Amino acid sequence: MTSNKTDIIIVGGGAAGLAAAIFAKRRSPERSVAILDGAKKLGAKILVAGGGRCNVTNVRITPQDYCGGSRNAIKKVLRALPFDETIAFFRNIGVEMHEETHGKLFPNSNKARMVLDALVNEAKRLSVEIRTDSRVENITKREGDFVVTAAGGESHCSAVVLATGGKSLPKTGSDGFGYELARGLGHRLIDDTPSLVPLLTEPDRFRQLSGIAQDVELTIKVDGEKPLRMSGALLWTHFGISGPVVLDISRHWHRAVLEKKAVALTANLMPGRAFNDVEQWLIDAAATGGRQRIKAVLAGQMPERLAEALLIEAGIATDVIVGQVNKDARRALVHLLTALPLAITGSRGYAFAEVTAGGVPLDEIDAATMQSRVCPGLFLVGEILDVDGRIGGFNFQWAWAGGKVVAEGLARLFEAVGKE
Ligand SMILES: Cc1cc2nc3c(=O)[nH]c(=O)nc-3n(C[C@H](O)[C@H](O)[C@H](O)COP(=O)(O)OP(=O)(O)OC[C@H]3O[C@@H](n4cnc5c(N)ncnc54)[C@H](O)[C@@H]3O)c2cc1C
Repeated sequence: MTSNKTDIIIVGGGAAGLAAAIFAKRRSPERSVAILDGAKKLGAKILVAGGGRCNVTNVRITPQDYCGGSRNAIKKVLRALPFDETIAFFRNIGVEMHEETHGKLFPNSNKARMVLDALVNEAKRLSVEIRTDSRVENITKREGDFVVTAAGGESHCSAVVLATGGKSLPKTGSDGFGYELARGLGHRLIDDTPSLVPLLTEPDRFRQLSGIAQDVELTIKVDGEKPLRMSGALLWTHFGISGPVVLDISRHWHRAVLEKKAVALTANLMPGRAFNDVEQWLIDAAATGGRQRIKAVLAGQMPERLAEALLIEAGIATDVIVGQVNKDARRALVHLLTALPLAITGSRGYAFAEVTAGGVPLDEIDAATMQSRVCPGLFLVGEILDVDGRIGGFNFQWAWAGGKVVAEGLARLFEAVGKE
């Protein structure tokens, strides 16, 4: 067993831990900073992000892009690293970026590896000590200092930053143990659920649609809450549904189930068009369509396989002439087209979730410093906190901005100690 003293120990060297280390050393170069990470190599999640291209941030980041803790606290943290400064930060470490659809920013190289290497190299240039294969098992506070017990022995420090992430993709090393470390230091935990995760539907119901992608508007109705609508691309899969709009709505489905509230999800397959409008379209098609078959009419608006599946579900023969569809059958079809019920039976869980909803409540930290209100000298940053963003670079921005705030918080802590 070895024992040594460092000013600041950061537990977890993912996006939030690396950002915190870099900003802390830039703000207070005289402080010694060590990152302890349980993984053999840092940054597994950065490498898989954005399909291996890493969606680093977004041109427009607002507190409304996040769920979880108070929007005011989220705003305070995000304000610490505005868009221009984020771009400048990455440019400074050698990562130029370009904008893609929905304001997403990716490195020009389109390689997540470049983002990770730039962060690790910058941390090393600033003399941050990086200890991999050092899973932290316990943290205690003794006479004002922290004792951090990891695989390699005990380390002592004046401040600890918990940047252990959540539970999503546990094989990367973020398996939720950070929550236990936070709990051990006196924090409460908001129950966690997967977020940004594909959803499962009844077996076989949509299997024949597997591989079809289309724009839809999803509506989720949770008992006692205002219906929530989201638009975007949905992908039919062999297990159910995926695609950006499904991932974005998944956290709301999971939270409803967690809270044991009735929840219903429907898809408008003709986004932006209401029941009456779609019915009128079919009435007009019947009036002018001659001997056109109903399937051909639908297939003008959507993939043929989907048209066929909807007709079967509405009990309409696929080869019937459009003008021969009776009113009840037409209305049943329009109902499916504008509010297709998607009976969700579960999700693919943490193994496929991009983030974790829940975690350490934001009201237990000071959003101006990220310092724990429960355990002075402890800082929390990144996904371990009860904040989860939607698809589009928002989760990384939460990590980068939080890292900047931590650096300020650490500087203030050491200034205050110096004055004592
Ligand atoms: C497949 C996938 C794609 C994604 N794509 C994007 C994207 O393109 N854009 C975006 O904004 N977000 C994306 N995300 C989400 C984003 O990756 C996370 O929100 C972000 O990585 C969280 O950063 P973090 O540092 O808080 O946690 P993590 O990245 O999870 O890092 C935590 C670190 O702590 C270490 N650790 C955990 N417990 C211990 C312990 N006890 N002792 C020591 N070390 C420990 C882990 O090994 C890990 O290195 C994606 C996520 C996934 C899974």
